[in-house]
Amino acid sequence: MTSSDISPSTPAEVLVVGAGISGLACARALRQEGVAVRVIDRGRRPGGRMSGRTLHDRVVDLGASYFTVPDGSGFAAVVADWEHRGLVHPWTDTFAVLGTAATGETAEGGTSTETGDTPTSTAGTARRTTGPLRYAAARGLRSLAVDLAAELHVERETEFGGIAADGTADGIRYGTVVLAMPEPQAARLLPPSSALAAQLDTHSWGPVIAVALGFAECGWPAELHGAFVHGSPILTFLADDGDRRGDGAPVIVAHSTAGFARAHLEQPDGAVRAVEAEVRALLGIDPGIRTDWSHAHRWTFARATTTHPEPFALQDGVGICGDAWGGRSSVATAWASGDALGRAIARRR
Ligand SMILES: Cc1cc2nc3c(=O)[nH]c(=O)nc-3n(C[C@H](O)[C@H](O)[C@H](O)COP(=O)(O)OP(=O)(O)OC[C@H]3O[C@@H](n4cnc5c(N)ncnc54)[C@H](O)[C@@H]3O)c2cc1C
Repeated sequence: MTSSDISPSTPAEVLVVGAGISGLACARALRQEGVAVRVIDRGRRPGGRMSGRTLHDRVVDLGASYFTVPDGSGFAAVVADWEHRGLVHPWTDTFAVLGTAATGETAEGGTSTETGDTPTSTAGTARRTTGPLRYAAARGLRSLAVDLAAELHVERETEFGGIAADGTADGIRYGTVVLAMPEPQAARLLPPSSALAAQLDTHSWGPVIAVALGFAECGWPAELHGAFVHGSPILTFLADDGDRRGDGAPVIVAHSTAGFARAHLEQPDGAVRAVEAEVRALLGIDPGIRTDWSHAHRWTFARATTTHPEPFALQDGVGICGDAWGGRSSVATAWASGDALGRAIARRR
C-alpha cells in the first residue's frame, strides 16, 4: 500500500492520540511507511504546546517561544521546507540575560549555560548570551502543526477515553495505540495493569503560566529579542513577540516559574498583575507607557525537568512519544521522538 492509497475511510492500523508536534511527526512517518493511521486530538486545533491565540487581531505564541534545529536531524529537512515556503524564519541566536544570579529556570528547562549558550557580555542589563539559532513562525508556531496536520485528516475535539484492559481503544481494536502527550496525561489513558505505566515519570512535569502583555508602544530596546530571566521568583523567560513574529507589535510574552504558576493554577488571571510588574521592572519600561491589554494562559504540564534517554516506549501494542523522550524537553526532541516511534511501529508490522 502506498501513502496515496490511504484515505480516512481506510480502517486504521494505528491510532495516534495527540496532534502536537510529536503525534503529527509519528503519524507522518507512519503514513510515509504506508501504514493507515488515524489521528485524534481533543483540542479545537492541532498544535498542543505549540499553540497561540489571536489577541487583538494578531496571533500571539503562548506555548513554545521558538524552536531549534539539531544539525543533520530529520527535523532539519522539515524545517528547510517550511523556510522555503515562508512558514518559518531564523529569529535570533542571542538573548538578553536579565535578573540577578546566573542560575534559575530558563525557557529551555535549565540555566542558559546548560542550554549551550555562551555569555557575550556581562555588563548590567546589557548582558547577552549567544546559543543555537532559534526559529520563529510569522503566523505563530501553531501554523506549523496546522501545516503538518493538513495531510493527516486530524479528527479534532475528539477526547480519547483510554485503553481498556482488553487492549481496545474506545471500543476499537488497533494494531498500535500511540499516546503523544505529556506523561501525566498519557498515564491516565493506560489500563491499570499496563507494564508501560511503571516506565512513565509523571512527577517531573512542572506548570507555567504564560502572560501576554500588549503595550501602547515598545518600551524596550529593539535588539532585545527575548531574555532569560535569572533569580526571579516569578519569571524565567520573556519574548518580544512583535520581533519574533516580524510585525513589530509592542507585545511581550512572559513565562512564569513553576513555583509561581503552582500558586496561580486555579486562577491564572490573578497572575497578571505581578507578571506585568516584573516585566516592567526587568525591562525598565517607562511608567508613562500604558499596558493596553493582557492575557494569561495556564500550561499545567509545560515541560519535563527529567527526560528519558530512550526516544520512545513501545510495548504490548502501545507506543508513547513526546518531548520527554530522547533529549531535553523541546519541539525538536518531540519531533524526533514521534518520527522514531512511527518508523519503529512500521518496522514491527
Ligand atoms: C510555556 C512553554 C514554553 C516552551 N518553550 C519552548 C521553547 O522555547 N522551545 C522549545 O523547543 N520548546 C518549548 N516548549 C516545549 C514544547 O512546546 C514541547 O516540547 C512540544 O510542543 C511538545 O509536543 P508534544 O507533541 O510532545 O506534546 P503536546 O504539544 O502537549 O501535544 C499533546 C496533544 O495531545 C492532546 N491530548 C492530550 N490528552 C488527550 C486525550 N485524552 N484525547 C485526545 N487528545 C489529547 C492535546 O490536546 C495536545 O494537542 C515550551 C512549552 C511550554 C508549555
